[in-house]
Amino acid sequence: MSASPSEPSALLDRCLESGRIHSAYLLSGPGAAPRDAALRFVRGIVCQGSPRPCEACPSCRRSTGRAEIALDGTGKKGPLLRHVGDHADLFWVERGEQDTRVRIGQIRALQQALRLRSSEGGRRAVVVADAERMNQEAQNALLRLLEEPPPQTTLVLATATSAGLLATVRSRCQRVAFRPPRASALDDPDLAALAARLDSIGQAALPDLLDWAEEYRGARAQVAEGVAALLEGASHWLRQRVAQAVERGAADDLRELDGLRVLASCRRNLVQRNANPQMVAERALFALRDVVGP
Ligand SMILES: [Zn+2]
Repeated sequence: MSASPSEPSALLDRCLESGRIHSAYLLSGPGAAPRDAALRFVRGIVCQGSPRPCEACPSCRRSTGRAEIALDGTGKKGPLLRHVGDHADLFWVERGEQDTRVRIGQIRALQQALRLRSSEGGRRAVVVADAERMNQEAQNALLRLLEEPPPQTTLVLATATSAGLLATVRSRCQRVAFRPPRASALDDPDLAALAARLDSIGQAALPDLLDWAEEYRGARAQVAEGVAALLEGASHWLRQRVAQAVERGAADDLRELDGLRVLASCRRNLVQRNANPQMVAERALFALRDVVGP
């Protein structure tokens, strides 16, 4: 899928390209995406090349290629924070290996480090990963940094969910939300258009269905992809109908379940047995009409 302009990482790339970098960002979303994007973003902030990070300039070389030092929130067995790679102007804070929280001591150590001047004379950046795991004390300490950001410094909070953060912290940050990775190859508008079409398939006449299947005629590689999307979208549509039936308490003897079985078999034929995509589409569409037809 191509990156749409509203995609979170594209948005951050545009900040880097334009050089208009704010003093605080809040990257939120499930999985590793916010953390990975935060790392890439701060490396891009100090990069001297293009595109940022260019992976070739001295800054990029310093901010990569070193094993991460494990942090200890108490500072007893390890440092409270670390640099990204060994770049002196990039800082990384996260909860210690044994900790459930990002501790206030870590945020204080960060404040301390940021009091010193930038070693390169350029921008500096900080990632606070696991930001939702800061307790209130730590958040209040961080809030002071957000309210009076040190010059030329960008703070990037990476978090699974921004729900646990103080509203005052959230409001100081540019918010960038990462959506859960889609299980589907279909975009929402495609899915909605297909669902609308399927909603009336019960009234479709035989020639209509044949015409529909005819749309999947042509070079196999291309049309097979289209049929795979049709099967996936139709399965999604059927599962929604099942869920609605269950909610209504009308889930006995659902024809939708037969439909799902046929779609699964169609998919096997398409993918494993190299069946003719148009024929597979025909079989699927007939089965779908049987599910919702009279
Ligand atoms: Zn670079």
